[in-house]
Amino acid sequence: MLRLENVTKLYPTSVRPALDDVSMDVDRGEFVFLIGPSGSGKSTLLRLLLREEAPSSGNVFVANWNVARLANRKVPKLRQRMGCVFQDFRLLGNRTVAENIAFALEVTGKSEHTIRTVVPEMLELVGLDGKSERMPAELSGGEAQRVAIARALANRPLVLLADEPTGNLDPETSDDIMLLLDRINRAGTTVVMATHDRQIVDAMRRRVVELHLGKLARDDARGVYGASR
Ligand code: ADP
Ligand code: ADP
Repeated sequence: MLRLENVTKLYPTSVRPALDDVSMDVDRGEFVFLIGPSGSGKSTLLRLLLREEAPSSGNVFVANWNVARLANRKVPKLRQRMGCVFQDFRLLGNRTVAENIAFALEVTGKSEHTIRTVVPEMLELVGLDGKSERMPAELSGGEAQRVAIARALANRPLVLLADEPTGNLDPETSDDIMLLLDRINRAGTTVVMATHDRQIVDAMRRRVVELHLGKLARDDARGVYGASR
């Protein structure tokens, strides 16, 4: 589903590579934690998958797309198939919960009929059936992240990329969000989640890929946050 081949990323202003000869594969249906200290290259890796950055060398593949070589006009198609959630939710503040989800479907050209069907399905999936007419400012952090997840899934993405999705949530709410992400993954969606949350990683026992100064330091099948030895 995802493949990095000897990927190095050197930003114009940086002295060392943000990613240094990183190779990894993620199969369809996997759940992967991407961990490592601040500045180790996690966000850069996610941005390369979305073609928000180009690698300095090496190849990036998503499904059948050669991401770095993709024609500019095809980049929107790639991004439509990648769901993204962030620490700060990034909801549209002047639209209701339902409109936030509908917006994701509108921009990919879905019909009125599809939007009317899919929005309630997504709200039910994330457990927010009763909140469709709320404004983002009226939601708790956990609810806001659920809306963001619903929006990210509306176009049936090949992979869900989550960058510190629990970073602004208390531990109990974080656990609820992880239960939801786990359920989504078990239903078939590939998930890649960058996180600093030791407790979550240790509780889930999923694949752990660790970066250090841009290098792949560890790749454990059922890993924990700390070193496995
Ligand atoms: P993480 O997400 O693990 O904190 P990043 O991918 O954000 O790591 O950063 C990796 C390295 O690349 C850091 O040294 C950071 O300062 C640098 N970096 C990230 N984005 C840019 C940028 N747009 N321009 C220059 N350097 C950057
Ligand atoms: P139409 O334009 O006739 O609605 P679509 O191809 O947009 O055709 O959708 C056909 C059906 O597929 C919809 O009625 C809907 O139930 C389902 N569907 C389409 N897109 C999605 C989606 N992103 N998520 C869930 N169901 C979808």
